[in-house]
Amino acid sequence: MTEIKKSLPRRRFDAVIVGAGGSGMRASLQLAEAGLNVAVLSKVFPTRSHTVAAQGGIGAALGNMNEDNWHYHFYDTIKGSDWLGDQDVIEFMCREAPKVVYELEHFGMPFDRNPDGTIYQRPFGGHTANYGEKAVQRACAAADRTGHAMLHTLYQRNVRAKTNFFVEWLALDLIRNEEGDVVGITALEMETGQVYILEAKVVMLATGGAGRIWAASTNAFINTGDGMGLAARAGIPLEDMEFWQFHPTGVAGAGVLLTEGCRGEGAILRNKDGERFMERYAPTYKDLAPRDFVSRCMDQEIKEGRGCGPNGDYVELDLTHLGADTIMKRLPSVYEIGINFANVDVTKQHIPVVPTIHYQMGGIPTNINGQVVVPKNGKPNEIVHGLYAIGECSCVSVHGANRLGTNSLLDLLVFGRAAGNHIVAADLKKQEFKPLPADAGEQTLARIAKLDNSSSGEYAQDVANDIRKTMQTYAGVFRNQELMDEGLRQMAQLTERANHIWLKDKSEIFNTARIEALEVANLIETANATMSSAAARKESRGAHSHDDHPHRDDDHWMKHTLWYSEGNRLDYKAVVMKPLTVESIPPKERTF
Ligand SMILES: Cc1cc2nc3c(=O)[nH]c(=O)nc-3n(C[C@H](O)[C@H](O)[C@H](O)COP(=O)(O)OP(=O)(O)OC[C@H]3O[C@@H](n4cnc5c(N)ncnc54)[C@H](O)[C@@H]3O)c2cc1C
Repeated sequence: MTEIKKSLPRRRFDAVIVGAGGSGMRASLQLAEAGLNVAVLSKVFPTRSHTVAAQGGIGAALGNMNEDNWHYHFYDTIKGSDWLGDQDVIEFMCREAPKVVYELEHFGMPFDRNPDGTIYQRPFGGHTANYGEKAVQRACAAADRTGHAMLHTLYQRNVRAKTNFFVEWLALDLIRNEEGDVVGITALEMETGQVYILEAKVVMLATGGAGRIWAASTNAFINTGDGMGLAARAGIPLEDMEFWQFHPTGVAGAGVLLTEGCRGEGAILRNKDGERFMERYAPTYKDLAPRDFVSRCMDQEIKEGRGCGPNGDYVELDLTHLGADTIMKRLPSVYEIGINFANVDVTKQHIPVVPTIHYQMGGIPTNINGQVVVPKNGKPNEIVHGLYAIGECSCVSVHGANRLGTNSLLDLLVFGRAAGNHIVAADLKKQEFKPLPADAGEQTLARIAKLDNSSSGEYAQDVANDIRKTMQTYAGVFRNQELMDEGLRQMAQLTERANHIWLKDKSEIFNTARIEALEVANLIETANATMSSAAARKESRGAHSHDDHPHRDDDHWMKHTLWYSEGNRLDYKAVVMKPLTVESIPPKERTF
């Protein structure tokens, strides 16, 4: 082992960012423009990161269409989070929102325009004025390709700023020294199969979500939870992983997303009787109630026999009354998705939809600067030096138990920028590299050697598919104790099976089977975190809907979960109720 370790090639950077999605590239831009030597790793070409698929918009109280201000946005986000979001960081995000959106505009982002030249904003679920009184138009959009426009804008700015991109590189493990500081990572160059040590003064995880631990997901195939896996294997806990958002409108059978922007533009959900059923459940917000709520109502309709189709297992989204002109102008991709994935012309026919896994609210715990924080010496939020996390893989906790639509793209921009600024202020050029520990890289080499020595066992994809089936069956839209306890038993077996993966093809060059096998280790960590955290939370809050405990229980459960990989151990920490400057929004029942 020592022999091989010596031969591991090394490279050095001021900062290494794992992930070239919206968050990673917003942060890297800040660093590269400040003259730091920054490496950004990505499994795929940067502009293919999942951010490219974001359709609906970016939330910011610009007030271009009607009266709006950040206080309303702040209130909506806290209510949307079912009071699990931290109010200090929510205040920060909502106040920064207009700034980061205008900045993006000045970077060249091709937003849709109003006749007066201002940025077009559309209504979205849970976005209101006057503290819930009426709908407001807050989602800044570039047709239904907002993420595409944003990611390309950020990529081009990064090219200009001379960011070093490492395309088709797979980050494998964090390297921590004896003090627990992060001093680098190991990564595999897919083209050659060579493993490198990348030394860095700062490592930032921006690896996106893990929607691929589920069977039915709107997420890209690359969303395998690698950042969570890296963190968990390095002893860092994962926060609030029981909270997963089901998006109400995934195309039935295909999983592909139809943006909430459809309903923002006026589309309606209907059951088999053609009834606009959301009027019954949410008299004020109707189809634009938050996602957790709408998803449960849809499931209820299906359960009670009012689902559509031969098996009554979906409901329908009706856009026909919007007219072909509006659809082609505001929702052109939705039209294409209808044709390609459901054989439906949405200008003339209803399209079948079901709630589909979309977004993880939890992730790697961080503070307002994006620094990773863990409980240590009796204190809940001690900094892990040298490690940052941003974007969907992180949990700063602005989304709490349920994210409002458009708040993720916003979170990427606000905290990508904030983390970048924090690193720039630390003046890395003046800091020395910390020495690598003697065993740097060994964890990774042991994992790879195990695969290379395997001569029997199971294929990675079979284990991965069974993880997905297990998660979908035992931790879906509606959960109960019996299901989740069985889910825990199944996950324990799957964890064991994942230790015996057979890599049949041992080749080095562009071996995608090897990459898939390495990704399974990350699926396992994320799925275990989800199942264990969910089975322990005995209440219903936001996206966690527990049949045996149908109500929110603020007395016992208004706290963040922390899950540790070692021993599947759980811990908890308090929710921050005190905002930075304004008064706290006290918990109340969520009605719509
Ligand atoms: C279909 C869809 C539509 C959405 N629409 C909206 C919307 O309208 N508004 C909104 O606010 N939110 C939306 N969201 C959510 C939002 O788009 C995502 O949460 C967000 O884009 C995630 O960005 P990110 O920077 O965290 O990660 P991503 O964009 O997912 O990027 C992750 C990056 O990490 C890299 N990576 C991962 N693992 C490794 C590894 N081991 N080694 C090297 N690189 C690695 C990947 O290659 C990629 O570059 C949508 C999500 C989906 C799926």
